[in-house]
Order: sequence, then C-alpha cells, then structure tokens
Amino acid sequence: MRNKVIAGNWKMNKILAEANQFTDDVVKKVPSNDNVESIICAPFPFLSSLVEKTKGTKVKIGAQNMHFEEKGAFTGEVSPVMLKDLGVTHVVIGHSERREHFAETDETVNKKAHAAFKHGLTPIVCVGETLEQREANETMKHIEKQVRKGLEGLSEEQVASTIVAYEPIWAIGTGKTASSEDANEVCTHIRNVIKDAASEDTAEKVVIQYGGSVKPANIDELLTQSDIDGALVGGASLEAESFLALVEAGT
Ligand code: PEP
Repeated sequence: MRNKVIAGNWKMNKILAEANQFTDDVVKKVPSNDNVESIICAPFPFLSSLVEKTKGTKVKIGAQNMHFEEKGAFTGEVSPVMLKDLGVTHVVIGHSERREHFAETDETVNKKAHAAFKHGLTPIVCVGETLEQREANETMKHIEKQVRKGLEGLSEEQVASTIVAYEPIWAIGTGKTASSEDANEVCTHIRNVIKDAASEDTAEKVVIQYGGSVKPANIDELLTQSDIDGALVGGASLEAESFLALVEAGT
C-alpha cells in the first residue's frame, strides 16, 4: 500500500511571519497517522526557519525549485547541496509555471531529478498538458514523453522513490479541476509508462499526485481513485485550516 502524500505549493506567497504562523498551526494539529505524509513547499527565504519549526514532527519541508549544479557561477540560483544542508527533504521539479516562465525543459527536469537523488532529496516531478494538447487528444503522448525524459537514467530504486505530480495546466489556479476519473486515467497512464520504462514492482511503489484546483471539497473523491496517491496543492494550501483538512482527507 502506498502512503498518501499531500504537498502544499505556496508559490511566491507569504512573508516570514505568516510562514512561521502557518507552520506553528499545522504542526500543532497535523494528524499523527503513518499512512499520510505532509510537505510544505515554501519559498527559499523561509526554508531554514520552517525546517527548525518542524524538527521532530511529521511535517516535511520542501523547496519549489533548485539548480542541478552543486555550486558555482550561477547568480541567484540555489543548489541541492544548500537545500540538503538546511534539512529540506523534498523539491518540486519542473512545475508548469517554471516550464512556462523560466524555460525549464524535460532535459533540465531530468538533470534536477538526478541532482536531487545525488544529494538525498526526494523530487516531486511535475508533468501536465495544456488545454490545446488535451483538446487535440495529445495528452497521453505528451505525458509519456515528460515522464520518460524526466526520469531517464534513474535507477529503479530512485524511480520508485520519485513523486510524480500530474498537473493539467488548464486546471492550475483556474478553479477547474479535472474530473476524478479523467485525472485517474492519466495517473494510471503514468504508472503504466513507468512499468514499461522500469518494472511493475517499481511502478507500484511510485507515489502519483494530482494537482489542479484541489481543495477540501474535492479531495475525497480524487483520493478514492486507484492511481491517485495524494495531491500537490497551490491556492488551498495557503491557509493552515485548509491544508490540514487536505492532510486529514489522506488519513
Ligand atoms: C500548483 O501550484 O501546483 C497547483 C496545482 O495550484 P492550484 O492548486 O492553485 O491549482
């Protein structure tokens, strides 16, 4: 049985005091069940403080991006070594906003996935189609390419511990959620692609999240689907009560 994994992606929101308050509130009330994991993916300036606040608790702290190099002349970038050193456990890679606004490609996603594992971080690898691709019936082909290229060259063990987040771009921040059946169809496809690229055993271990306007009102139905093991959540992860309700749904 795979655990449910609920990850909040704050994007470029909050100031430090708000981030700290949120985390204090979540730590106090987070369910103690072992079958659900909760991760807060926060902006870089808050990571150190949030790691301190969550030490010894069930809440993990993730970053929303990183460079694939360990160090060097990359002004403004943050390396996997720095994240690991802070105590960060997860890192979102290839979010559609980074692919769209910051020229991330399947190749950089793949380099970052390798770098994450090299430094003991768990990558949350995002894939997803545009509305145009969905309407042109290209979803499955596009997702297969993103999954294969994104995970290329990883060992079976590494693939098994990757979190893949299926986020249809047209559903992110728009209030439009894919129906749970449609979301599951793509998540099953992702698992089948991994089965083919790695092995059945590995594919069965991979946690596949759905993301795209997930909120307390729709998470239950999404989590009943056979291949949806959690959610990557933007807007509804910004309030502690709402984030806690999402984690609770995973218990
Ligand atoms: C996201 O940021 O990955 C996301 C899915 O956002 P939202 O939940 O707001 O659609």
